[in-house]
Amino acid sequence: MFAAAALIMVWCVIGHDLWVLGRSANTDLDQLGDWSVRADLRPRLLVLAFGLFLTFFVWRLVRLLQRAEHQAAARIALQRLIVDHASEAMMVTDRAQRILSINAAFTAITGYEPEDVLGKTPTRLSADHHGLSVHRNIWDFVAENACWEGEIWDRRKDGTIYPKQMRITAICEDGIQISHYVAVFSDISESKAQAQRLEYLAHHDPLTNLPNRLALDAHLQMVINSAVPGIDRMALLIIDLDNFKTVNDSLGHQSGDRLLGELARRMGGQIAGNQRLFRLGGDEFVIFIEQLPSEEAVIELSNRLIRVIGEPSEIDGHSLHMTPSIGISLYPEDGRDALALIRNADTAMYYAKASGRANYKFFAEPMNVAATKRLHLESELWRALADNQLVLHYQPQIDLLSGKVVGVEALVRWRHPTRGLIGPAEFIPVAEECGLILPLGHWVLLTACRQVKGWLDQGIDMGEMAVNISAHQFRQAEFAQSVRAILAETGLPASRLELEITESTIMHGVDEAIETMTELRGMGLRLAIDDFGTGYSSLAYLRRFPLDRLKIDRSFLADVDTDSDAASLLTSIVLLGRSLGLQLVAEGVENVAQAEFLRTLECERVQGFHFYQPVSAEEVVGYGGFGLFAALPA
Ligand code: C2E
Ligand code: MG
Ligand code: MG
Repeated sequence: MFAAAALIMVWCVIGHDLWVLGRSANTDLDQLGDWSVRADLRPRLLVLAFGLFLTFFVWRLVRLLQRAEHQAAARIALQRLIVDHASEAMMVTDRAQRILSINAAFTAITGYEPEDVLGKTPTRLSADHHGLSVHRNIWDFVAENACWEGEIWDRRKDGTIYPKQMRITAICEDGIQISHYVAVFSDISESKAQAQRLEYLAHHDPLTNLPNRLALDAHLQMVINSAVPGIDRMALLIIDLDNFKTVNDSLGHQSGDRLLGELARRMGGQIAGNQRLFRLGGDEFVIFIEQLPSEEAVIELSNRLIRVIGEPSEIDGHSLHMTPSIGISLYPEDGRDALALIRNADTAMYYAKASGRANYKFFAEPMNVAATKRLHLESELWRALADNQLVLHYQPQIDLLSGKVVGVEALVRWRHPTRGLIGPAEFIPVAEECGLILPLGHWVLLTACRQVKGWLDQGIDMGEMAVNISAHQFRQAEFAQSVRAILAETGLPASRLELEITESTIMHGVDEAIETMTELRGMGLRLAIDDFGTGYSSLAYLRRFPLDRLKIDRSFLADVDTDSDAASLLTSIVLLGRSLGLQLVAEGVENVAQAEFLRTLECERVQGFHFYQPVSAEEVVGYGGFGLFAALPA
């Protein structure tokens, strides 16, 4: 660089002198001999300065060029680095699709080294998964449209195939003709597997590994969409386990889960190729039968399900016996879409439950009419409570020896604005199902206590007030406290209150029941078992419970005057009850013969139409203190 600068300077000085000499020769040839002496120093210095400037200029130019060259090289190196370290594979081809360059990710994903692929066409390396024509079509598409993006299966060097997400772009260096293609792709096997896992989780129940409600909807939609109503027949079975909640409540959720897993496995063992088992949630399962040969096939399957579910299950040291209630809807008669089929099978399942459980029911249209009626009743009942349409009637209990009224039972009625007086048998079960029984039960208890306290305050002694308590009410954690609060609010002495509970109420969760009963009796009130004999408990079992009275169900009184077996059954119940130290009440005494028979058994208390019907509070006070067979109501 400096040599070039010196050379430029020397040439500048010599050039200048020659130019000066040239000019002098034209004017004065005498000066030729001593030009060096007479030549003026200033122009030389000027020339020297010009030379120096020129040198500097050239030097700067060269430096700039060098720097630009370095920067370009660094940029290329960086780009190479980026390409080589990119996680996406890259491949550049010429216009004839011969591979010119690949990056490290290409090798990592495909297993092909540069020497394997350079100069070859990508199509030749590709999988047979789609066939060569698909690959060719893609490249043809890019040639026409400049770009293609999508998912494609390809083959690695080791022969394995994998899915990849790829984008191919055509490059035109001159802006007119395609000169290169650039393909960028990534291996999506992992994300595809992940998506499949998520898809599986979204459509399956983790406890039983069975497809879930979402999967059922999708499956039904798919099958029904391609079905021909006149030709294809299908069936949908909803299988609900009876009393499964009791298992969860008494043995805990883990045992409940194990039982569900075991029963799901058994049900799965009963289905064939065109039948599928789903878990709707909780203890509800669905079996869907595509291409139903006949209704007999559904009946046969239902019977098998009832049998295998009914076999004992050994769970955590307990031998559990379950039963299912099965509702069946058929395509196309009971529904032409998933929603209708599920809804109608569900309605049929409720009928199966209502008609004794452990059985199956085919859907029938009247069931829907009844279901709608029930829904209507439910909404009306909520309003009834708010609008004070409920009233209490009272049925006296008589002491057989003295013939006096010794107590009354409060029985709720609904004074319906258009239908008149409705009995509890019609609406108490509805209230129990929809949760209304809790406010309703509270209202009954409060009203009954107020009533008997009001009588006492007026000097009217009607004996004890018996109030029916439903299972839901009794099992509330704060039930005993709410009774205590009502007694405190009304000021009624606890000894005047008797609570009637049924056997089934106390047979579920025996320890909790005993605890509540002990607390209630501790307050001083009485406890009676209602409808005794209709539940499953044995008299010996009842010994465990703190009880005062048994109310013998009226079914035991039915034929006592004509049937000796009935008479001896009633006799033994009375004797056993007495041996347990319990007081007895016979319900549903309808005639003199029954009353006489009870008198011979020395059953002290009776209640029944033979004596009094349930009547309003105003009416019942008129019966207080009447003699045994006197003044029977019409
Ligand atoms: P329950 O507690 O066994 O009440 C006795 C039922 O037998 C009453 O029917 C009564 O009218 C009827 N009965 C009484 N004597 C005779 C008779 O001689 N012959 C016949 N055939 N029946 C007689 P009701 O009032 O229709 O009540 C039916 C059931 O509804 C009650 O049976 C009770 O389980 C329930 N219930 C009534 N009121 C309430 C309530 O306030 N709360 C709850 N949870 N349940 C109630
Ligand atoms: Mg009762
Ligand atoms: Mg009863």
